[in-house]
Amino acid sequence: MAERSAELRLETVAKRFGEVKALDGVSLDVTSGELLTILGPSGSGKTTLLKVVAGFETPDAGRVLVDGTDITALPPARRDIGMVFQNYALFPHLTVAGNVAFPLEMRNVAKAEIVKRVGEVLELVELGGYEARLPRQLSGGQQQRVALARAIVFNPRLLLLDEPFGALDRKLRETMQLEVRRLQRRLKLTTIFITHDQEEALVLSDRIAVMNKGAIQQIASTTDIYERPSSGFVADFVGESNILRGTAGEGGRIALEGGGEVRVSRTLSSGAKVGVLMRPERFSATATNPFAGEVVEAVYLGSSFKLRLKCDGGRELIVRQQARGKLPQPGERLSVGIEPDEIHVFDL
Ligand code: ATP
Repeated sequence: MAERSAELRLETVAKRFGEVKALDGVSLDVTSGELLTILGPSGSGKTTLLKVVAGFETPDAGRVLVDGTDITALPPARRDIGMVFQNYALFPHLTVAGNVAFPLEMRNVAKAEIVKRVGEVLELVELGGYEARLPRQLSGGQQQRVALARAIVFNPRLLLLDEPFGALDRKLRETMQLEVRRLQRRLKLTTIFITHDQEEALVLSDRIAVMNKGAIQQIASTTDIYERPSSGFVADFVGESNILRGTAGEGGRIALEGGGEVRVSRTLSSGAKVGVLMRPERFSATATNPFAGEVVEAVYLGSSFKLRLKCDGGRELIVRQQARGKLPQPGERLSVGIEPDEIHVFDL
């Protein structure tokens, strides 16, 4: 299949539904061939953003540009965008081949060319030989692959995926995530993927945009979103976290609200109010930045132990340890520490 990938730009796009600001001035650049995930809680505006790009919603303000051309007023059918939704929406009375051929028939592609392209794209999603089946004769994962084939068969300039694996079980979901990633890389197709599942976002993306209340909170690489979140909201939404508040002092010291202090590896302007993020898995046996207390809950998670630690002084922390030996029991004393460069600080 041909490579024909576009750059997408959103400029201060706003959309209101009555009192609700579904999109509150969103600006965004997606580069050619990139897979950008939009991650956010329910109601944060993810689907509205996708609908604006696809042309199913008209923004109240702002512009949508593809390769520099303003498409804000273009009807959906003329945007050349492939889409897959959570409910696969295959035509139930059409065969697999019929479903995949549909966008080509709409575009008046010649019959022989349709047969060739449908064959190619079904091979690509590993459904060669399934041409004559009806959707109801396929598993959920296979149906979703047909939907994907139908979305890419006409060489779209953009691919939009709205929670496409929401209805699949965990194992199948993971397989499909890797498959989409492989396909998207191979076709170098500019893609926006919506999910509220942070693990899915980390697996799939080049970059992640975290949305809340109609606005993008942070847009960055997967590592930066996890390691260097810009706010408590992002830190809390992506991964497990211990978030404390404090006041910066001299030499990378932070006095924590509720008592105690930690030392971090960067200098901070003295007196600044900061958020302190300590990921549960970053605690170790080090004596640096010590926290000691009583285990109040311990859960065995296969590869790790997840512990809730009530520190002396009353603060609670979530700590993850590699599952070795015996699971600590509630009531046991535990001392952990965390290296300064394992602590992330953000402005409040
Ligand atoms: P979810 O993860 O639950 O799908 P989302 O992040 O995709 O949520 P949107 O569907 O974009 O969120 O909705 C954003 C806000 O806009 C919500 O408060 C929603 O109730 C509201 N909204 C969306 N579409 C409409 C509509 N057609 N009419 C009125 N309100 C709407």
